[in-house]
Amino acid sequence: MIPAGLINDRIERIARDIVHELVLQNNVGIVVLCVLKGGYKFFADLLDKIKQLNRNSEESVPLAIDFIRLQSYKNDKSQGEIQVIGGDRLENLKGKCVLVVEDIIDTGRTMIKLKELLAKHEPECVKVASLLVKRSSRSTGYRPDFTGFEIPDEFVVGYALDYNEHFRDLSHICVISESGKKKYAV
Ligand code: 5GP
Repeated sequence: MIPAGLINDRIERIARDIVHELVLQNNVGIVVLCVLKGGYKFFADLLDKIKQLNRNSEESVPLAIDFIRLQSYKNDKSQGEIQVIGGDRLENLKGKCVLVVEDIIDTGRTMIKLKELLAKHEPECVKVASLLVKRSSRSTGYRPDFTGFEIPDEFVVGYALDYNEHFRDLSHICVISESGKKKYAV
C-alpha cells in the first residue's frame, strides 16, 4: 500500500512540523512516548529526523524518551478493552509536554483511552503523532495532531505493524490478503 521511500519522505515532513509546532515552542521539556510494539519503527525514524533538525537549529531542545505497551488486537479484530501491559513509570510525565507516537488510529478508542490515562499523571500537554489513520466506519471521530497517511479500511502490516506478530519486519506497509489472514490466524 505504501512503499518505504514514501514513508521516509512523509516522516521527514512530519518531523519538520513537530519541530516547528512543538519542539521550538517548548520550555517545559518534551517526552516522546513510543506506543509499543507497532509504533517502534515510526518512533525510531521520526526521532532520528527530529534530532537531525534539532542539531541544525540554533537552540537544540533536549528530548526524553519513554515507552508504553498496549494491547487490543487479536487476529484483525479489536478486543474492545485496551490493556497497558508494560512501560515506564508514567509519574515521570508530570509537567512535561508529551508527544505520543503511535502506528495507526482505527476507531480511535485506544488513543482516547491512552490520553485519559496520561491525563491522570498531569502532563503540561499531550500531542499525538500517528503514522496512519484509517478511514473507518467504526471511527469515533478522533484525529491525531500529526498524521502520516490516511488509508482505506484495510488491515495493514509491515513497518512494525503485525498480524499476530508476523510481518513486522517488512519495509513497506502492505495489505494482508484473506488467505494470509487464515494462514497466520491464532
Ligand atoms: P483503535 O483503538 O484506534 O481502533 O486501534 C488502534 C490500534 O489497533 C493500533 O495501535 C494497532 O495496534 C491496532 N490496529 C488497528 N488497525 C490495524 C491494522 O490495520 N493493522 C495492524 N497491524 N494493527 C492495527
